[in-house]
Amino acid sequence: MQILDGKKTSIDIQEELSQKVRQITNSGKKAPHLAAILVGEDGPSKTYVNAKVKACQRVGFKSTLIQLNSNVSEKELLNQVDLLNKNKDIDGFIVQLPLPKHIDENKIILAVNPEKDVDGFHPENVGKMTLGLPTFLPATPNGIIELLKRYNIPTSGKNTVVVGRSNIVGTPISILMSRKNYPGNSTVTLAHSRTENLKEICSNADILIVAIGISEFISEDMIKQDAVIIDVGIHRVKDSSKKNGFKLLGDVKYKEVAHKSSYITPVPGGVGPMTIASLLMNTYIACYGRDK
Ligand code: NDP
Repeated sequence: MQILDGKKTSIDIQEELSQKVRQITNSGKKAPHLAAILVGEDGPSKTYVNAKVKACQRVGFKSTLIQLNSNVSEKELLNQVDLLNKNKDIDGFIVQLPLPKHIDENKIILAVNPEKDVDGFHPENVGKMTLGLPTFLPATPNGIIELLKRYNIPTSGKNTVVVGRSNIVGTPISILMSRKNYPGNSTVTLAHSRTENLKEICSNADILIVAIGISEFISEDMIKQDAVIIDVGIHRVKDSSKKNGFKLLGDVKYKEVAHKSSYITPVPGGVGPMTIASLLMNTYIACYGRDK
């Protein structure tokens, strides 16, 4: 078993970006500028946004954090999105999800200028991804693709099972793994809560990507010997033995699954850091284009 070390890979990517940005800014060009809108006081959302802002600082990007009260109106949020769309100094921005229930997330996603949509959630970018055109790939699926690439994991002709069909993880990674490319060329099964015989389907997976949001759902008896396991789930579970009072678990029972797998992402330190690296890569592209 080998660990797919998302933390190390993310640091490698950040160092590469940092070097490139230093060279470009030394020649007099601006640094990439990422903005993030955070609505409300949700603990995990705050943690994610802060991690994104800190990562920007590490690689020499500019960052702007816009914090809004949880009772902000949809109109005011749309107004903030419009300001960022028009602000020439901002290359890309994200609106951290989930949003409070009184705000229609789809309306907000549609309002983001696709050219600044570094989360890759706008339908124009989703459409381009589906057609295999250059675009901003959604951060988490793009992070998984990058990790598979950097570890040279064979994907062509493999049975890839994705469990979970959300718009931000499961559905886009199923599209990316089936496209005519590397990583890709897999035979993909997309499973969800209505799937019958999930255990049997997972047991046939050469590559199993799990994004269901249920802590330690996948057990040893659900995986094939030597499968590649990508665990997207993140769950904070109370743990008084930890300094901060909680530990992080994934959607996979890591301890019992790891020894049966060929490669596995840990939680923490797997897909999470790759999501951040991927957002930075998209912001770099938003600023300088694809070929630098
Ligand atoms: P969602 O809750 O949006 O989607 C969950 C999916 O899992 C749904 O498609 C649902 O099916 C399916 N599902 C739920 N229960 C079952 C079941 N018993 N059997 C099979 N399928 C099931 O989750 P997200 O995709 O947003 O996130 C998934 C996990 O990944 C979460 O733990 C989240 O915190 C984490 N995450 C981590 C990120 C990272 O950077 N590491 C980034 C984003 C998310 P149905 O559609 O039928 O309801």
